[in-house]
Amino acid sequence: MRIVLLGAPGSGKGTQAQRLQAKFAVSQVSSGDLLRDAVARQTELGLQAKAAMEAGQLVSDEIVLGLIRERLSQPDAKNGFILDGFPRNSEQAGALAKLLNEIGQPLEAVLLMDVSKPVLIKRMTGRRICRNCGSVFNVESLPDGVSACERCGGELYQRPDDKEDVITKRLEVYQSQTKPLIEHYKQLGLLKSIKGEGDLDQITARMEAALAPAAPVQKKAAAPAAKPTKSKPARKPRAVTKPAKKAAKTKTTARVAKQPAKKTGKKSAVKAKKAKKTTLRKPAKKAGKALKRATKKKTLKKKSVKKKAVRKK
Ligand code: AMP
Repeated sequence: MRIVLLGAPGSGKGTQAQRLQAKFAVSQVSSGDLLRDAVARQTELGLQAKAAMEAGQLVSDEIVLGLIRERLSQPDAKNGFILDGFPRNSEQAGALAKLLNEIGQPLEAVLLMDVSKPVLIKRMTGRRICRNCGSVFNVESLPDGVSACERCGGELYQRPDDKEDVITKRLEVYQSQTKPLIEHYKQLGLLKSIKGEGDLDQITARMEAALAPAAPVQKKAAAPAAKPTKSKPARKPRAVTKPAKKAAKTKTTARVAKQPAKKTGKKSAVKAKKAKKTTLRKPAKKAGKALKRATKKKTLKKKSVKKKAVRKK
């Protein structure tokens, strides 16, 4: 599985990526998480990214690309990846296609999570994250008065960019810079879309159903990398029905098994016949010749006896 989850902030990309990651043993690669981690560790890149993140703006392509390149080069990403939050503009989409081509891991699908604006706002303002394990909750579904992570007991906090004024900015940035990618991936034949509202399990099921036809493409992954820039979707392998397959196999097996047997039988029969002829004919020929010779000798002897008798007379 090598996919991109596309959608507005708050559309549930992170939550669903975590579910798919657990189910399909592929790695979630979240640009937002990578950036937040860099900010928390106060790395040079983190310090550069911090201001843009807090303002709801996009961090520079250079910084994000560096982090993504580094992450995709790690061994676990070789089994597949779910890109969450990346790409976010057309430059990043171009850079991603180039990078994936270089490593021979082209995208199989881009899944758009379609969520209405009021739901997005409600989700983002109510989102709470565990400072310890990173689990995501929503105040709507948390029991009254609960402020600790139900998984590890860690402290729950609200992301600084989940405050209402920043949310408005993030949604604007999505409209102007990220939304055009929907058309881009549609043109490439990679886009699939699902309704990202309602029960979490149902959303996961919709995503799995939408991604299911990508399975044959996924199997073809070992083949040389196809250019993801082509607009035609990969052609499905010609269907071979099971009975037909079985029949073909049986036929071939039978043919393969039969041929040598037939050949061997024929060959050995001919050989046996020849051998018989040789063994029988040669001594018979020899015996015949010897008999002829003996008869000739006898006749000659008789003749000389007769001649001697005539001479005596
Ligand atoms: P997210 O967790 O995906 O909502 O991202 C949180 C913030 O990180 C965004 O509002 C941006 O400031 C920054 N960010 C995440 N991904 C990208 C990206 N692909 N390009 C630029 N900035 C990003």
